[in-house]
This record gives sequence, structure tokens and C-alpha cells, in this order.
Amino acid sequence: MDSVGVAAAAPDAGPGPAWQSKCPWGAPSTTSISCSLADVMSEQLAKELQLEEENAAFPEVVAAAEGPFITGENIDTSSDLMLAQMLQMEFDREYDAQLRREEKKINGDSKVSISFENYRKVHPYDSDSSEDEVDWQDTRHDPYRADKPTTTPRRGFIGKGKDITTKHDEVVCGRKNTARMENFAPEFQVGDGIGMDLKLSNQVFNALKQHAYSEERRSARLHEKKEHSTAEKAVDPKTRLLLYKMVNSGMLETITGCISTGKESVVFHAYGGNATEDKVIPPECAIKVFKTTLNEFKNRDKYIKDDYRFKDRFSKLNPRKIIRMWAEKEMHNLTRMQNAGIPCPQVVILKKHVLVMSFIGQDQVPAPKLKDVTLSSEDMKKAYYQILNMMQQLYRECNLVHADLSEYNMLWHDEKVWLIDVSQSVEPTHPHGLEFLFRDCRNVSQFFQKGGVAEALNERELFNAVSGLNITADNEVDFQAEIEALEKMNEDHVQNHGKKLSTFSSDGDPPIYDE
Ligand code: ADP
Ligand code: MN
Repeated sequence: MDSVGVAAAAPDAGPGPAWQSKCPWGAPSTTSISCSLADVMSEQLAKELQLEEENAAFPEVVAAAEGPFITGENIDTSSDLMLAQMLQMEFDREYDAQLRREEKKINGDSKVSISFENYRKVHPYDSDSSEDEVDWQDTRHDPYRADKPTTTPRRGFIGKGKDITTKHDEVVCGRKNTARMENFAPEFQVGDGIGMDLKLSNQVFNALKQHAYSEERRSARLHEKKEHSTAEKAVDPKTRLLLYKMVNSGMLETITGCISTGKESVVFHAYGGNATEDKVIPPECAIKVFKTTLNEFKNRDKYIKDDYRFKDRFSKLNPRKIIRMWAEKEMHNLTRMQNAGIPCPQVVILKKHVLVMSFIGQDQVPAPKLKDVTLSSEDMKKAYYQILNMMQQLYRECNLVHADLSEYNMLWHDEKVWLIDVSQSVEPTHPHGLEFLFRDCRNVSQFFQKGGVAEALNERELFNAVSGLNITADNEVDFQAEIEALEKMNEDHVQNHGKKLSTFSSDGDPPIYDE
């Protein structure tokens, strides 16, 4: 018997995968289908079953998924912890506002001024991975409103006869505009211009005003308690707070909803917010939240435990920190790839176990996985050569093996393949690095051979082409054995000499195995 009935596992229910349909959580299907034993054992099926389970666990999410996930106004206030933390944030902000007023009072018109910057409780959002739990950072919003702008005299002009100046006079108007900047919310940075004879054109002033107001509105939204979205229940309160901070700080505009939920992570889509001095936020972002609650990560110990980059830290860490490390790994690996010019998401910010990156796709629609897209034979061939090239670059330039490379982790966007999901990627000298590479090669070869690319190398040829090694075994078993022998050789060398055979820096050369 090779057919096993599996209830509630209908990956083909509806057009396309769940994340592509309107409701990203999908409605669980109850039809039972039969599938082969191989299917039952498959990772992907396990993922799909997991998804079904989560749909059952968070049924409310389905209804809420239509609206945005976090906009700054729909935050869930049902949790006491959350409420307390939000109050603390507000308190801190009011405290800072008070500081700012004091600062202003003391400084007055003086050319030399003192700053209370160091006493502020909140700071602009940055990428530090500090340990503090409440690291709310926002310096722009103030619940206190400024005075009303001074109005122009009703008759609209002053002077008499020839000397008449109207409110439209360029100089008067420019000065007035500059003065009016004082009426922007106090935390709106207007520079020193107010004390000088600076003239602002109407156009510039209006643009500034518009910006100041929209900032203020964003701040005001905070103070309104509105109906909250239950979609937030998909992540724990601490994570929700973290996401909320990102929106509240203006870094993100809105978090629209969930685009994927897997065993180890939940991925959200968001619209990017304001750029900061040193950072441009992409118009659309993907937020990968590494799950802190599930223990599936235990299965992945072998990836990280043996990764020398994390070795010293691993033993001392608690599970929460280990999960942060996954996020950190994904960030570092993406950065290496970015530097090598491999198409992949660009890192925006890492905050604890939450990684914000650029979104591959458009208008909230993620680019399809290679497994879900039907390519012309020409594109298929193009994709194959591109991947071959990327695998080589990854190995040689980034000193990395993807370690979960398959049609599930490659997206088709802009006529090319993008690599994602690199938290588990390791360096080739990882004790299992070459085995992981061989598995990657097998996935890629099989996909393209099945996809009708006649030029596709078999997995052994591909392995040699990527690694530059020359393993001659002509069958899988022997090939695998040689790979393991190489790995062992490297490990023995490490044991004896305390150093890898290869020379490597963080973005250095690939390992060269002495044979
Ligand atoms: P997992 O470990 O759950 O497989 P992935 O990084 O593969 O995590 O992300 C899961 C899914 O989320 C992907 O298959 C893809 O559809 C979507 N996704 C992840 N990152 C992005 C991104 N930067 N842009 C668009 N979609 C993304
Ligand atoms: Mn994936």
C-alpha cells in the first residue's frame, strides 16, 4: 500500500497558495485526499499542516486579515502588559516634551545653547540590538500642541500709497513663513533659521507645513483608542509591541498583513515610512518575525551549533537569544549576498527577533516562488543559469552555502530569480556544509531537469561546478561518502590545529580543501 489518506491536507484547494489569495490565512479545507507516503513525509506538507493548525488556532485572524494589521491606531489594548508599556511610552514622550520646553526656555535667543539630549528617554529608531526590553525610540511626537499661527491683518496690506506692501510681498512673506515655522509641533526640527533673517518661499513653507501636519496626525492617532485588530494575535504581545514601535516611530507606514506563516517564522508585508539620516526605507517591506514560542528551532541546532561564527555564544544562550541569533544570521547572510550583487531582499533593520527587509513583489503581492510560477522554456533556462551563477557567487564571494535552497526559497520577480530565507545558511567549512551544499544541488538539479532544462547538470556535476572540488565518484552513495570524508578531514584538522584548513575572513575566499 503506498497510498495514505490525509485529512485536511489539500494544498491544491483554491487557486494558488494560501498567501496568494485575498485572505492570507486561507479558510481551512476539510476535504480529505489521498497522497503517497513520500508526500506524508515531506517537509512542505508538514508546513501546510502546520498552517492548517494555526488557522484553527487563530480563527479570528481570518476576519481581521482584510484590514491593515498595525496602523498605529488599531493596536490591541486587551493585554495589561501591553497597556502598561504603551503608557510608559507616552509618559516618556511627555517627559521629553517637558525637557524640550525647559531647554527652549533656558536657551532663549542665545547663540550658545545647551542640550538636554542625553536626558531624553526616547531616541530615534536605530539598528542596535540592545537587550533592554523597553527601548522605545521616538523623538518627533509630542502630545502638546503648539500655539495657533499668527494671522495676517485682515485688510491684507500695510503702508500707504507707493509704499504699500501686501501680504504677498516676497520678503515680508518669506520672513513671516520662517516665523510661522515656530508654530509647527515643537519637536519638528526647524533648525536655527528662526533667529536669522531667513525668507522661506510659500512653496517651501507649504511643503514643510504639510509634512509637519502629517507627522502630528500620526502622533494624534496614538491617543485615540480605536477598535483593535485581532490579527495581531498571530504574534505574541512583545512582538506586537516591537512592530507597533516601528510604525509609531514612522519607520513603517502600515503593516498591512501576514503574507506567510511557517513553522519558524511569520512574514508580514508593510509599507515603508520615513527615511532617517542614514537610512532609506524601501516603499514596501517584508517583516520576518522569528517565532519565539515554538521549539521547532531545536531541530535546527545543528546548523548554528557547529557554525564557528556562533560557537562561542551558543552554549551560553537561552532559547530566546538563540532565536534572535537566527534573525541575526539571516541579516548577516543577506548583507553578504547584497554585497556580492546576488538578487535578494535588502536588510532594513534588525530588532531582536524581527528582521525588516525590502519586499520582493509589488503592491502587497509577493513575488511567486519558483515552484508556483510557470515559466517559458526560455525563462526556465535563463533561471537555471542564473541560479548556477548565484550558487557559485554565494560559495566563492559570500563564503556561504544556502542550506535550504529549493524552488520554495527562490522567488521569480522582475524576470529573474531572487534568493530568500538564508537564516540557516552556513559557511562551506561548517562540519556539514558540504552535505548541505550537495542537498541544495540535488534540489536544484531535480527541479530543472523535471522542468525540461536539457542543459541542467546533474547534482554531482553541479556540486563540483559550485564548489570547485573535483569529486569523481559516479554514483550518489560514493559521492556522499567522499563529501563526508572531506568534512571529517577538515574537522580533524580543526581538532589538531585549532584552525580551519581554509583561510577565511568574513567575506573572504571559499575554503580550499587539501586532498
Ligand atoms: P520560512 O522559514 O518560513 O520559509 P521565508 O524567509 O522563506 O521563511 O519566508 C516565507 C515566505 O514569505 C516566502 O516563501 C515568501 O513567500 C515570503 N517572503 C519572505 N521574505 C520575503 C520578501 N522579502 N519579499 C517578499 N516575500 C517574502
Ligand atoms: Mn522558506
